[in-house]
Amino acid sequence: MQLINNKDHHVKYIFVTGGVLSGLGKGVITSSIAKILQLTGLKVSCVKVDPYVNYDAGTMNPIAHGEVFVTCDGGECDMDIGNYERFLDIELSSDHNLTTGRIYSEVINDEREGKFLGQCVQIIPHVTDAIKNKLRKISNQECLDVLVIECGGTVGDIESLPFLEAFRQMKLEEGDYNTLFVHVTLAPILDVVGEQKTKPTQHSVQELRRIGINPDIIAVRCKNILSNDARRKVSLFANISSNCVLSCHDVKSIFLVPEILANQGIISIIENKLKLQNLFIKWSNWKGISKSFLEYNKEVNIAVVGKYVSLPDSYVSVYQALSHAAAKLKNKLEVTWIDSEKFDITSKQKLSLLKKYEGILIPGGFGKRGSEGIINVANFAREANIPFLGICFGFQLSLVSFARNVCGIYNANSTEIDPATNDPVVEFMPEQKEINNLGGTMRLGRHKILINSNTLASKIYSQNFINKRHRHRYEFNKKYLSVLHKNGMILSGYSDNGKRTEILEIPHHKFYFAFQYHAEFDSRPGKPEQAFESFMKVASIKS
Ligand code: GLN
Repeated sequence: MQLINNKDHHVKYIFVTGGVLSGLGKGVITSSIAKILQLTGLKVSCVKVDPYVNYDAGTMNPIAHGEVFVTCDGGECDMDIGNYERFLDIELSSDHNLTTGRIYSEVINDEREGKFLGQCVQIIPHVTDAIKNKLRKISNQECLDVLVIECGGTVGDIESLPFLEAFRQMKLEEGDYNTLFVHVTLAPILDVVGEQKTKPTQHSVQELRRIGINPDIIAVRCKNILSNDARRKVSLFANISSNCVLSCHDVKSIFLVPEILANQGIISIIENKLKLQNLFIKWSNWKGISKSFLEYNKEVNIAVVGKYVSLPDSYVSVYQALSHAAAKLKNKLEVTWIDSEKFDITSKQKLSLLKKYEGILIPGGFGKRGSEGIINVANFAREANIPFLGICFGFQLSLVSFARNVCGIYNANSTEIDPATNDPVVEFMPEQKEINNLGGTMRLGRHKILINSNTLASKIYSQNFINKRHRHRYEFNKKYLSVLHKNGMILSGYSDNGKRTEILEIPHHKFYFAFQYHAEFDSRPGKPEQAFESFMKVASIKS
């Protein structure tokens, strides 16, 4: 079914709100609804609303907020944008992540430019208008049939009120059958009684109603399938028919969620509410992809040694990229998250703990804490011939590690860690020297990288160029190129007319490969990013 050329075409807006508590997996539910609709042939996209005042996610601590996802156009976005890209296999622009900061700065700019002609600028209508305009602009510019908008946070938060108010107004302005509201809640089980409790859902629906929004679908997160009793209760108290109460129970892979929702009839609910006809899901290879995450022959154990391991969400795209590769290779992925600080003081004993892993991955990071540990681990993986993948900070510190341990440049360092080092193997990019602001000022987004022929990189990518996303301020100092090369390291990829070094590799090692870019953002279920796939392939060969 394709609505785009129909003269009655009207964009449909689906709003996803959250209740009870955060961290329920609203992003996965939003992505799954969008995926189902995409599989019916509609042109679908997603927007994430983050009601915090930050302009974007770039300056936020990954341990508190999760990974910063980088879009091709250089946006530093909420990690849910990554979910949307992976589920829908599309690339989104940074406009798809709305924040209070972005909306207000636009409204204030307009006010300063005199665009409001003497009016008193208010949340209603000026801020809400700015929000609605953004959503409408995206759906028009991208010729969408459906735009699914996820509102971060929990209903009842003060900061999300202007966004929810804008959604409420959109129902009025776009028409009842062009808008649909999904509310995601939680039915916890109390150990003592063992039954699914619906009271938190009832309360959060009341909260939503107070704002003027009546949900059309309630998606209830729960450990086991939602019981008929609980479904009936939610239906009664939330005033929606029981077939519109959907069970979103725990499953082994997030990619199974579209099937779970489809099996409960979400398509006919959407058809009825949005006056769409003959929506038919063509699963094509999606079911095969989601099943591939459950079928495996052997387990592969990967150690991820990083700075932000206390919250695995800080590395969500890295984990996803590994899992896409594992699923394709029919491996069961086991990841152990290890704080790099643990290896800060070289202790051979501690490092040898890493021997039991089939692969070691060092992801991105910032700042001094734990950096010595990373340098030691990069060296250990090289010496112990353990397959190694280094990303961004992991790339930079494996250059330092090689310079120190192989080339005898004992004081080698990155100026990010020791600004006064005599041997700045990794240094501030010259363009960065004039910049004072922290937000949105790194080298960001997609850049073209040329790959040298007859290298591991050329084998991995089987082409002589790639386009990859970046997020960094420091880079390899090419003054050290010849000494590294003389000692056996190959630098095999360059960007910006040869100015930036992007890839390193060590021949005669099982697999030692690191890169300045963030390959993890390009990986998709069923289509793992090639460097991750090659790494997992070598890691899965038992020695
Ligand atoms: N801190 C390093 C830099 O800014 C690496 C950044 C990263 O890992 N994303 O260059």
